[in-house]
Amino acid sequence: SEARAAHKRILLKLSGESLMGDDAFGINRGTIVRIVGEVAEVVNMGVEVAIVIGGGNIFRGVAGGSVGMDRATADYMGMLATVMNALALGDAMNKQGLTARVMSAIGIEQVVEPYVRPKALQYLEEGKVVIFAAGTGNPFFTTDTAAALRGAEIGAELVLKATKVDGVYTADPKLDPAATRYNKITFDDAMAQNLGIMDATAFALCRDQKLPIKVFSIFKHGALKRVVLGEDEGTLVYA
Ligand code: UDP
Repeated sequence: SEARAAHKRILLKLSGESLMGDDAFGINRGTIVRIVGEVAEVVNMGVEVAIVIGGGNIFRGVAGGSVGMDRATADYMGMLATVMNALALGDAMNKQGLTARVMSAIGIEQVVEPYVRPKALQYLEEGKVVIFAAGTGNPFFTTDTAAALRGAEIGAELVLKATKVDGVYTADPKLDPAATRYNKITFDDAMAQNLGIMDATAFALCRDQKLPIKVFSIFKHGALKRVVLGEDEGTLVYA
């Protein structure tokens, strides 16, 4: 018999770069298929999953092609990049047997439906995966902050911050072989130690709302499922 999930509703934050695979830019099909496979495992356990997707694999308001641009304009481009990723992710989900709904924080209604909170809640209750596109809808913010915001709005029990490393370490494990993974750490300790788990706005919102964050690797097969089962995986940041 299937083990029971420790969480009923989660908010998963995927960076744009997580869709890149080994490519230098854009969306790698094999990678997106693999990520959807990991998500499907927890959806099929009955867990309600909402996703905030980043855009850094295509465009960021503060780096690369945006250097020298007006910041707000560049940030709107970054938000549009997240819409592209959301469409690709939703498409892959629908092809792999899930039902995904993309909701955008900026009006772009011929392409995706707008974010309407009660509708998002309804979709989640129906077992659909809700993909939040366009971040918070505001320049000068990040999709990490969108993850904290939407996570709080939908009453997620946990924000899952997907990274390349399988948690938060005492030092960079690539540089220091003695580095160890924190199994859990409080918001205050993480802040005192400057661990940089999410940007300051996102971190403050989660801390204020006592919304725990789990840092884990989306590329470690089965890790997402183990997090949802409440097993020792990744790093929990808690109030
Ligand atoms: N962005 C924004 N407001 C938001 C979320 C994102 O202006 O609420 C823009 C910003 O320019 C950012 C880009 O979209 O650089 C891509 O988002 P982010 O850098 O968070 O993506 P990730 O690093 O997760 O791939």
